[in-house]
Amino acid sequence: MKHITDNIIQNVKSSLKNVEKIVIITHFNPDGDAVGSSLALYHYLIKHQYKVSIIIPNRAPRFLKWLPGNEKIYIFEDTFDESKALINESDLTFFLDFNVINRTQGMENYLKALSTKKILIDHHPEPENFADIIISSTDVSSTSELLYEFIISLGNENDINKDIAECLYTGIMTDTGSFSYNSSLSQTYYIVSKLIEKGIDKDKIYWKVYDNYSVDRIRLLGYCLNKKLKVLPEYATAYISITRKELDVFNYETGDSEGFVNYPLSIKGIVFSVIFIEHDEHVKISFRSKGAFYANRFARNHFNGGGHQNAAGGNSEASLEETLQNFENKF
Ligand code: 5GP
Ligand code: MN
Repeated sequence: MKHITDNIIQNVKSSLKNVEKIVIITHFNPDGDAVGSSLALYHYLIKHQYKVSIIIPNRAPRFLKWLPGNEKIYIFEDTFDESKALINESDLTFFLDFNVINRTQGMENYLKALSTKKILIDHHPEPENFADIIISSTDVSSTSELLYEFIISLGNENDINKDIAECLYTGIMTDTGSFSYNSSLSQTYYIVSKLIEKGIDKDKIYWKVYDNYSVDRIRLLGYCLNKKLKVLPEYATAYISITRKELDVFNYETGDSEGFVNYPLSIKGIVFSVIFIEHDEHVKISFRSKGAFYANRFARNHFNGGGHQNAAGGNSEASLEETLQNFENKF
């Protein structure tokens, strides 16, 4: 467990001196790892008497609402003035779970203008150079796992209470699809065992995250798999597309389509799966792959995006129909 050098830890320690107000920022469309790691860091820093605020660009999925401290999170697009003031008054900023600053969407320009210290903790490949201290490794399952290591490296194992452990575990569990991908390193399980020792109930956390969906969400999933799945066996690829109208029929809420993109990968022989979701202004695209296919390169080269080798995202300004046509033309 050594993804953070002593040098960096010394640098972090001195950066945290004479600091009063800290802001934690994570990415647009925040997921379990983004929210889990942000809340874990929040609880940790609070223990050290800092004034801490978490600001996320847009709302997180409902299945994360139970996380301890969730009610303290500011949603930038809903609390624009307050969030902007918190950013401007902060003495130090943590960036969690993203590697390019434009993943903060509408917050990007305010963050770029900051002259105070910025610390990045992340696990995506090739981070952009937008922070003063960059703690980044792709050899971990999640930002939450790296954050555990961060707290340990600061010498504060004892600070990890049940709340922090629940937040970290949620990040690890969601970013590994409950230990079905991105989870072949023994360190992940070592850390999970340490988190269990802190009193978390991992089965309950699973139920809270995955067995808490609305009826509409389940019906939307059924509809997508039955009516909207297209298989391209010659390219070992399958994709799902959903229109704005279809989302409305199923009373779509943020996060409802989370996980849909994984289903086509359970078809024998499929190694690349994509979901296209039509929003008002753009089409949001998620890519998942198995093995050696670089989903992030595909996303970067063709759809304005990026991410990990086996899990990436992007978007398209073209209509849904045109986007699907463009996609099929890439093969
Ligand atoms: P998801 O498909 O769950 O939204 O994202 C999968 C992965 O790709 C995540 O690690 C996420 O951070 C990354 N990702 C999603 N959308 C984008 C994007 O527009 N740009 C970049 N660079 N990464 C993205
Ligand atoms: Mn992550």
